Amino acid sequence: MLEVDNIHVNYGRLQALRGVSLSVREGEIVCVVGPNGAGKSTTLGAIAGGVTPHAGRITLRGQSLGGLPPEAVARLGVSLVPEGRHVFGSLTVAENLRIGTFQRRDRAAVAADFERILEHFPRLRERLQQPAGRLSGGEQQMLVIGRALMTRPRLVMVDEPSLGLAPKIVDQVYDILIKLRHAANLTLLINEQSSERVLKFADRIYVMRGGRIHLEDRAANLQDGKAIMQAYFGFA
Ligand code: ATP
Repeated sequence: MLEVDNIHVNYGRLQALRGVSLSVREGEIVCVVGPNGAGKSTTLGAIAGGVTPHAGRITLRGQSLGGLPPEAVARLGVSLVPEGRHVFGSLTVAENLRIGTFQRRDRAAVAADFERILEHFPRLRERLQQPAGRLSGGEQQMLVIGRALMTRPRLVMVDEPSLGLAPKIVDQVYDILIKLRHAANLTLLINEQSSERVLKFADRIYVMRGGRIHLEDRAANLQDGKAIMQAYFGFA
């Protein structure tokens, strides 16, 4: 579905990505793990069209994404849930969910999507008329994921959904993502700092450090964690 081929990204003189290649097949959950500053967010940004690589190629179902602005990439069915849970705090939960759909003319389908998404997020349904700023961190994470789904994406990229959340809440967020994969026929590309958690549910894992991919394998082959740790820290 998605092919990232040898992309390079610089921020001024800083080489953030030094030849990153990865692929995601339809229906997979692929996780990119790596320490702070490894280049994980930059990789998702490059796919979503917010960051422009100066070399390399990104294709979605064979179509090049090179040079496309974020709105055009989104129209092709790619949705990015950025790090940091950016909700519109003074708008209600319902308004936050609908914000990405103003361009859609199929109002009946929008209403149906809204209902379908709330089935997965009962806590959001209970708080529909409350300002999003009053939600807990976990609820805000659910809201940004729900909002991303309102555009009917096929590929959802989630940047560090667990950041700053208590472990129990992180479990809930991931339970929902895993259920959604089947219910909404999604493909997921997820950035995480912790490899332990993603080993439980990812199909495949990439370990990134210093702007490069150091390891790629099926999660089933990485369960003892040794190879991941070596790639993550750069030593055995
Ligand atoms: P984190 O987990 O901390 O978000 P990351 O693996 O997602 O890390 P990136 O955010 O992609 O890593 O950052 C890669 C490198 O690029 C880092 O050295 C970072 O400081 C730098 N960087 C990221 N965004 C910018 C920017 N807009 N301008 C300048 N440098 C940036």
